[in-house]
This record gives sequence, C-alpha cells and structure tokens, in this order.
Amino acid sequence: MKINEEDVQELERLERTVNGKMGVSCVRTILFYLRRGEYEAAQNVRQVEGDKTRAYPELEPVLERLFGCRLHGVHDCSDRWCSR
Ligand SMILES: [Zn+2]
Repeated sequence: MKINEEDVQELERLERTVNGKMGVSCVRTILFYLRRGEYEAAQNVRQVEGDKTRAYPELEPVLERLFGCRLHGVHDCSDRWCSR
C-alpha cells in the first residue's frame, strides 16, 4: 500500500485546525503510525475511532483517500452503507 504524502500532509494540517488547539488525538495517533510506515496500524485506528473523526467532516474525505471506507477499509466500496 502506497501512502500518498500529500494526503498525509493534508491530514496533519487538518488535525491542527479542525478542533482548535485541542487537535484530534486519534488523528495524531493515525499520523504517528503513518510516519513510521505502519499503514495497517494506522488504518486500524481509523476504523476503531471512526465515530470520532466523523465529528469533523473535513477529515473524512482525506481519511477515505488514505484508508478507504470507514466500515471496511475498502477503496471505492460498493457496500450500500458506504456508497453515497
Ligand atoms: Zn465499505
């Protein structure tokens, strides 16, 4: 799995802005794993903590580009719960 550097940078930028100074701790965890090249660990956090990132609509498109859908971690998921 190739990690898109631009998406990672966008995620970092959003983490610093969408929740003021607090940031979003689960996104910091995701970024931590991504920076270590541990994609599967990062994706696991995204799926477990998906209900938290959903509070910030700006985050979801970037997370979907990186990890696929929230439920299955599938890109272009055709599941009816995931397709919009
Ligand atoms: Zn899905």
